[in-house]
Amino acid sequence: MNGEVLKNYINGKWIESVTDKTRDVINPATGEIIAKSPISTKEETLQAIEAAKTSFWRWRTTPAQSRIRYLYDFREALEENFDELSEVLTIEHGKTIDESRGEYRRTIENIETATTIPTLQMGYNIEDVAAGIDEMVIKQPLGIFFCVAPFNFPAMVPSWFWPYAIATGNTYILKPSDQCPLSMVKQFEIFDEIGIPKGVINLVHGGAEAVNTLIESPDTVGLSFVGSTKVGKLLYKKCGEFGKRVQVQGGAKNFITVMPDANLERTIPNLITSFYGNAGQRCLAGGVLLAVGDIYETLRESLLEAAKKITIGEGLDESIQMGPLASEAGMKSVLSYIQTGVEEGAEIILDGRNVRKNEKFLNGFFIGPTIFDKVTPSMTIAQDEIFGPVIPIIHVKNLDEAINIIHENPYGNASSIFTSSGKIAREYQYRVNVGNIGINIGVAAPISTFPFSGMKDSFKGDLHGQGKNAVDFFTEEKVVITRWF
Ligand code: NAD
Repeated sequence: MNGEVLKNYINGKWIESVTDKTRDVINPATGEIIAKSPISTKEETLQAIEAAKTSFWRWRTTPAQSRIRYLYDFREALEENFDELSEVLTIEHGKTIDESRGEYRRTIENIETATTIPTLQMGYNIEDVAAGIDEMVIKQPLGIFFCVAPFNFPAMVPSWFWPYAIATGNTYILKPSDQCPLSMVKQFEIFDEIGIPKGVINLVHGGAEAVNTLIESPDTVGLSFVGSTKVGKLLYKKCGEFGKRVQVQGGAKNFITVMPDANLERTIPNLITSFYGNAGQRCLAGGVLLAVGDIYETLRESLLEAAKKITIGEGLDESIQMGPLASEAGMKSVLSYIQTGVEEGAEIILDGRNVRKNEKFLNGFFIGPTIFDKVTPSMTIAQDEIFGPVIPIIHVKNLDEAINIIHENPYGNASSIFTSSGKIAREYQYRVNVGNIGINIGVAAPISTFPFSGMKDSFKGDLHGQGKNAVDFFTEEKVVITRWF
């Protein structure tokens, strides 16, 4: 991490990019440039496609049991290098070291799940669909898939896809976030060390040019995109135009409902983690707090008390509970949302901008925990994804009012309810139109054997990342009807 231009990994080799365009990779806690991400050209991306194409048949005909041995080796290497990998993640992103460890645990989980491909990829059959005729389904890999990844979980998000894609026999191209590419560089060093056959998985840094080349190529099959809804919708449309399979996991605005019968003592730490974990930069982060009925005042006061205690600083310090925003642009965007909240008439009862008065935080992109009271559903801070440590509180009368507010928002990634009533919880999961529901859980993050769901503007496509959904996305079901004379 000496400010060098990162290399692409194509056909089993580290290759210097020919581009003269780079993006600075910055440690957000210190403002220091730690690397440069090359904005790879069309030609370089085509080389990666060629490598993935050439290696496809050999890899596809390698028995699944042999393919997954690379995943076992990769998993072991992640465990062996766990501390270093977690540190790199914290340095490039700013999240706390504990959050980085958690991210790598989730990455490992996905790799473990993909090692069960010899079971997950099984087809099915039935005898005697007519006299002496049998019918079966086989799930076959299709070719070259690719991923376009976001900055907020730069190590884990790609693992919702690539382990399943290559374990099922496809070859792969990964376009990491140009803002936080280092964790994937570290993981590709591991691919190199374990000797994964060349061309099976390739790394191409960059932006729109690389992504457009991947979509436009007649040799690629499908895209797994995770990032903002704005870019996601653009790529979804383009994938349609070029006949690609696509899964787009987009932005979010997650409403957290707290009922009057909630167990407040247990709820508060959950809310703190939901809104302030990863400095609010999670697609599953709490986005708005809906305080129902007469719990409103006690909830607000308890939350305020807990939020004030959060320690802020450089994530490598084990005592820190919240790191900086991951980029200067991210910080500026959150500051602008806070300003808009004030201008639109919400009452700021905890102002995270104050941490910027402390000189030790000035080089980094820090904003402290922020709480807005007296927010109304039409305010910008109640509508938009802020992607920062801000809690807008809306006081609602009852569950119906809460659900109506949730349904009026275009996003549908996640929502949680805190209640002691099974009946209310069931009603919530039944009616609320989002992909991931938490019941007395602040961050409804599905484990790797479940799909990472999402609805409305938070997801476009039909099959999600992780587990069986991923296997279906990366395979085609071929039907074989057999009669022997
Ligand atoms: P982003 O949309 O800015 O970038 C995502 C990726 O798209 C990056 O690799 C980027 O280089 C690429 N990209 C950007 N513009 C492009 C263009 N014009 N053409 C082609 N590629 C382009 O998103 P981000 O800021 O990196 O990530 C944050 C967003 O991701 C948030 O909205 C968050 O909610 C969302 N997210 C969603 C999920 C989910 O599962 N739904 C998970 C994590 C993050």
